[in-house]
Amino acid sequence: MTEPAQAADAAAPRWDTIVAGAGMGGLVVAHELAGRGYRVLVLDAADHLGGVASRLELDGLALDAGAESFATRGGAVAELAAELGLDGDIVAPNVAGAWLQLEDRAVPLPKATLLGIPSSPLSQDVIDAVGWGGALRAYADRLMPVLKLGKDDALGPLVRRRMGARVLDRLVAPLAGGVYSADPEVLDVGTVAPGLNNAITRAGSLSGGVALVLEERAAAVARGDAAPSNASKPGSAVLGIRGGVHRIAERLVERAREHRAELRTGVRVATAEPVEAGWRVVTEAGEALEASSLVVAMPEAQALRVLGGLDGFRELAGSPAAGGAGGVTVELVTLVLPEGAVQGDPRGTGVLVAADVTRIRAKAMTHSSAKWSWLREAAAGREVVRLSYGSGAGAPATEGLSDAEAAELALADASAILGTTLPAPLASARVRWEQGQPSSVVGARARQQALRAAAAAQANLVLVGAAVAGTGLAQVVPDARQAATGIRREAFAVPGTPWTADVEAELAAHEAEVAAQDAAAQQTHAAEDAASEPRSTETGTHRGEA
Ligand SMILES: Cc1cc2nc3c(=O)[nH]c(=O)nc-3n(C[C@H](O)[C@H](O)[C@H](O)COP(=O)(O)OP(=O)(O)OC[C@H]3O[C@@H](n4cnc5c(N)ncnc54)[C@H](O)[C@@H]3O)c2cc1C
Repeated sequence: MTEPAQAADAAAPRWDTIVAGAGMGGLVVAHELAGRGYRVLVLDAADHLGGVASRLELDGLALDAGAESFATRGGAVAELAAELGLDGDIVAPNVAGAWLQLEDRAVPLPKATLLGIPSSPLSQDVIDAVGWGGALRAYADRLMPVLKLGKDDALGPLVRRRMGARVLDRLVAPLAGGVYSADPEVLDVGTVAPGLNNAITRAGSLSGGVALVLEERAAAVARGDAAPSNASKPGSAVLGIRGGVHRIAERLVERAREHRAELRTGVRVATAEPVEAGWRVVTEAGEALEASSLVVAMPEAQALRVLGGLDGFRELAGSPAAGGAGGVTVELVTLVLPEGAVQGDPRGTGVLVAADVTRIRAKAMTHSSAKWSWLREAAAGREVVRLSYGSGAGAPATEGLSDAEAAELALADASAILGTTLPAPLASARVRWEQGQPSSVVGARARQQALRAAAAAQANLVLVGAAVAGTGLAQVVPDARQAATGIRREAFAVPGTPWTADVEAELAAHEAEVAAQDAAAQQTHAAEDAASEPRSTETGTHRGEA
C-alpha cells in the first residue's frame, strides 16, 4: 500500500487514511497519523468534532456536553493529555462523595460496596439505604447454600437471588445506571466487577466475595499497585481536565490540523467498499472519496450501516447486538442557576436515584460546580447541575418533551433532590446521546471480538472507538493509539517479513524524514503564497466546521 505522503501519483488516492467518525477514537488516530506525515481526512456526521467528548457553551461557560472525566486505570488518557500540553490541567474531582436518593430521603452512598453490593449487609449505612427488612434479606445471602457462579452470569439476577430486590433497586441499579448507563439485568459480572466471580467461589457467598475483592483492592493500593478504589467515594478513581474533558478532543483537532489533516463536519459516511488502491467511501450527499486505508470510528449500529454490505459485517448486521437490539439513549439536561440558588453542597458531588423512586424522573444528578473546582471558579457564584435521563432500560423520561418542558422537569427534579425550591435557571441545555450498548453487558466482549475479526479479514480497514474497545475514554484512547501503530506498520511492512525492532526503527526514521519534507514543503508554499495572490490551500479549507 501507499507509504505516507508519497509523492503525488496519478493512480494513488489523495488521502493516505480516511477516518470516519471524529469522536475521541477517530481523533486519536487522526492525530497520531497526521503527526507522522500521513495525509488524513476526517469525516463526521455531526455539526461538531469530538463526539461524546465535545463542548457545550452555556451562559458563557464552556462545559462538557458528554464525557466529563476519565478513569485513571491504565494511565493512557492522562498520558495523552500530557502529550497535548494539558498536564498542568489534569485535576481530581472534589471528594465530597455521592449520595443516594430514596423516595422519601437522601443518604450518603454506603461505603463498603462493590457497584452497590454491600460486603456487610448489616452495616448502618446499608440499613439507612435499604431499611432493616432489606438489610436482613441481604444478610440471608450468608446463610444460603454455597454460591458457585457461572462465568457469564448477569449482575441483576445474581443480586436479586442472593440479596433481594431492595439491594438491587436501591443500591445496585442506581450505580449501574450512573456508571454504565445500563440495566443491571444485562450487566456482565465479569466485566463490571473483575475478580468477583472468583472471589464468590472462594467465599461461598456474594457479600463474602465482595469483601474479598475489596480487601484485595485495598492491599493493591497499599502496595502502590493500583490507584485508590472508588469503593468508599464513588467517583474518586477518575480525573478531569481544568476547563473540561472536551479540551483533549479540541487539542487533538488543533494538532491534527497543524499537521495538515483535513477535518470536515456535517458529512455522513453512507457506505464503504474496498477498491484496488484501498478504500472508497461514499457520503450521504453522494461524494466518493478514496484513501489507502480506512478507519471506522463510530458506534456499532452506525459502523454496521456503513460496512454491513461486506463479508463478516453482513452477518453481524443481521444479528442482534449484545444486550438486545438497539442502543442506549441518554439525555442530559444542564441547568445554570443564579448565585445563591444552592446553599453549600447539600448532596456532595451528586446523587444517584434509586430505581424505586417515583417522584423524581432523573436517574442521576451531578452537581458539576461542586464536583469541579475549576467550574466553581468559572461560574463565579452561579451553580451548574446536570441531570441524566435514561439508563439503559427504555426511553428516557424526557422523551417527547420540548426543550422547555425538559428543562422544567429537570428543575423540578433538581429541586426535589436538593431539598429546596430552585429559582428559574439562567440558561439550560439538553443534549441527546444515542450510543451503542455499553461494553459491560453480557455478550459484549464476544461482539467486540467478532467486529474486530470482521475488520481484520479486510486489508487496510480498522475499527476503533467504544464499539470495539469498550465504553469510556480509558478504553478508547489506548486502543486507538494501538490501532494507529497497526496502520503505520501495515503501510510500511513488506509482506512475509517479520516485524522487528530494526524495522520499527526504519519506520520511525522514514516517518521523521517524510514529516521534515512535509514541513519544508509547507514553508515553500507559505513563501510562494506570500509572494503571490492569496489562495486557499487544500488543507486550510475546513468545510462545515462547527
Ligand atoms: C452521556 C455520556 C457521558 C459519558 N461520560 C463519560 C465520562 O465521564 N468518562 C468516560 O470515560 N466515558 C464517558 N462516556 C463514554 C465515552 O464518552 C465514550 O465511550 C467515548 O467517548 C466514545 O468515543 P468514540 O470515539 O468511540 O465515539 P463517539 O464519541 O460516539 O464518536 C463517534 C462519532 O462518529 C460520528 N458518526 C456516527 N455515524 C457517522 C457516519 N455515518 N459518518 C460520519 N460520522 C459518523 C458521530 O457523529 C460521532 O462524532 C460517556 C458517554 C455518554 C453517552
